Amino acid sequence: MTAQRNFFRDWFDAFVEDFLEHKDHLGDLDRQAGDGDFAVNLHSALRRAAARVDELPLDAADADVLRAISLGFIDTGGSSGPLLGVWFRGIAKAFTETSEHVTAVAVGVRGGTDAVQRLGGAQMGDKTMVDAMIPAAVSLEHTAAAGGSWSEALHRAAEDARAGANSTQALTASLGRASYVGESASGVIDPGALAIALFFESGARVA
Ligand code: ADP
Ligand code: MG
Repeated sequence: MTAQRNFFRDWFDAFVEDFLEHKDHLGDLDRQAGDGDFAVNLHSALRRAAARVDELPLDAADADVLRAISLGFIDTGGSSGPLLGVWFRGIAKAFTETSEHVTAVAVGVRGGTDAVQRLGGAQMGDKTMVDAMIPAAVSLEHTAAAGGSWSEALHRAAEDARAGANSTQALTASLGRASYVGESASGVIDPGALAIALFFESGARVA
């Protein structure tokens, strides 16, 4: 029997690819709405995460791959590193507790998003990554309750996370460095929210 390559490794690799394609854009958004370091912070987190994932066997358990990603993020600077680190840790935790993928990802994204909100204090509408995370959590919970497939779950979550990210364009940030630039950030999509939309789009692409 050949070992089955873990799905989250493919998802993570696809996300790294999509991030690199959009890196300059994400950097520009943070330059317009924040202090300009977001793409550099995310790039360094992804490199740390990739190094930890590479240490695992190809058929590592979902929770182990997700925990490795989480540890890569938590060690990284900026607000986004620790926030995304606790988000991935929340997703990892759900995969230790349930093996049914759609339920696990729904419970995990909700738990991770709650943890991000506890750590950073953001609510929906504060123009942060939470504006894409909450719609993704709601979407995944709906698909799980309806008995939808893994592919359906990720495609819907990607659409809803993207709509959430787009909704940040009209908002003025009240948290994080983006709040220091006030009104000049309105009209600019929050880069953290856009990164979350890209993450689910990467997952949908490989699902
Ligand atoms: P910093 O704001 O410290 O420069 P980064 O540039 O690494 O951090 O990350 C910026 C992103 O982090 C923002 O686009 C936003 O999505 C997210 N963010 C910042 N503060 C918070 C917070 N308190 N809660 C949730 N997300 C936040
Ligand atoms: Mg920044």
